[in-house]
Amino acid sequence: MNDSSSRVVVITGGSKGIGRTIALRFAHEKARIVILHYDVDESASESTLKMLSQRGIGAESHKVDVSSFAAVEGIFKDILSRFQRIDVLINNAGITKDTLLMRMTEADWDAVININLKSVFNCTQNVIRSMVKQRGGKIVNISSVVGQIGNAGQANYSASKAGIMGFTKTVAREVAARGINVNAVAPGFIDTDMTAVLPEKIKETFIQQIPLGRFGQPEDVAETVYWLCSDAASYITGQVIHVSGGMYM
Ligand code: NAD
Repeated sequence: MNDSSSRVVVITGGSKGIGRTIALRFAHEKARIVILHYDVDESASESTLKMLSQRGIGAESHKVDVSSFAAVEGIFKDILSRFQRIDVLINNAGITKDTLLMRMTEADWDAVININLKSVFNCTQNVIRSMVKQRGGKIVNISSVVGQIGNAGQANYSASKAGIMGFTKTVAREVAARGINVNAVAPGFIDTDMTAVLPEKIKETFIQQIPLGRFGQPEDVAETVYWLCSDAASYITGQVIHVSGGMYM
């Protein structure tokens, strides 16, 4: 079981996909894990909690819209009052609303920017004081290779993910002297619900752009995230690590 000396890890979008796999990776060290999600129902988050409990981890999950500053402020106050600290924040929640710019509505733009980018501000802003006070912490923001190279049909998504890269570098500079590492991981195409909806033809085109010749697995991303949160990566901050099979180099 987890005890009070184990790290407190908050993972947004931790109910499934990459976020769930990151949670399972932290289970190896018996971390105390808090998952935030915004799924319509609780089935995915309940499955994740069950997987964690099978590994001896008593985790918790909350349905919170991370694009709402007030909602995020509320849950972080609650977590901090109960655990007294947050050691690791993984800003992983994200959505897509893909369409060509000519057809993109204001609502498509706002939803993606708010859920993917504003959420990173909301969560980081609400955790940073406590990390500064404890003189340590690890923040990993999940960006995307398309934030670097662009992708037709993803003006909103690529802008949100490029924004995460700039935010990461700036906050890394602001808090480095306080012993806090802030990095981003930029996955390429990873096998999750997010990419399962892509038509086979599009997937085949994407695979041709991946030097390693395959989609990545959530574990590929989770290992890098976990390493960035370990002592082994303590001299690394303000970086964007691409986990994309070489799509960007
Ligand atoms: P997923 O669709 O499997 O899971 C998304 C998670 O985000 C879910 O837990 C969901 O509840 C949560 N979420 C969505 N909106 C939310 C909101 N408003 N408030 C709180 N939580 C919310 O997605 P995934 O493929 O695991 O992606 C995880 C992250 O990785 C995302 O940021 C995504 O942009 C990024 N990413 C994914 C890929 C890929 O190929 N799958 C590639 C690059 C980057």
